[in-house]
Amino acid sequence: MVFAYYNKLSAAQKRIYRRSDGIHTVSLPEPAGLHPLIPRLSTALEREDRATVEQQCCGIADGIVALLGVPPLRVRVLAVRPSASWGELHGLYEPGQGRAHAVITLWMRTVKLKRVVAFKAFLRTLLHELCHHLDYELYKLPDSFHTEGFYKRESSLFHQLVPDAEQPARTGK
Ligand SMILES: [Zn+2]
Repeated sequence: MVFAYYNKLSAAQKRIYRRSDGIHTVSLPEPAGLHPLIPRLSTALEREDRATVEQQCCGIADGIVALLGVPPLRVRVLAVRPSASWGELHGLYEPGQGRAHAVITLWMRTVKLKRVVAFKAFLRTLLHELCHHLDYELYKLPDSFHTEGFYKRESSLFHQLVPDAEQPARTGK
């Protein structure tokens, strides 16, 4: 199955899409080393402690890129935007240009309600943006499309970091 926008892509883009769609998992050699960071991120989010959230996100991203041997990237976490809602953009990936590192920007959202869900959604947003990085740096795809394979890779990372999680709702842009 392909998403509807596939039909509007050029032949070259369709080839990239199909390569992306064919990769279903990202295997981390030693995910257990990252597990202690997960509750720290959750606690920092509950406290709405932006600096610590950013620090833990950097730790998770650094750990994943190191395990996969791809170039590092920066993660910055910004405060909730006044109009933030579940449907809006809450993560952004900007590829590295020249010698500059790629950058992931995440926005902390209102987490007053359903904190656990908010935590999972937040972590998935980080992993979603990391998957864009992996498309370019690990799989060497010239473009990074949202394919079914892409979302499976995002899920595969999530379940390696949170092995006892139930199937979470899909999030991310
Ligand atoms: Zn995306």
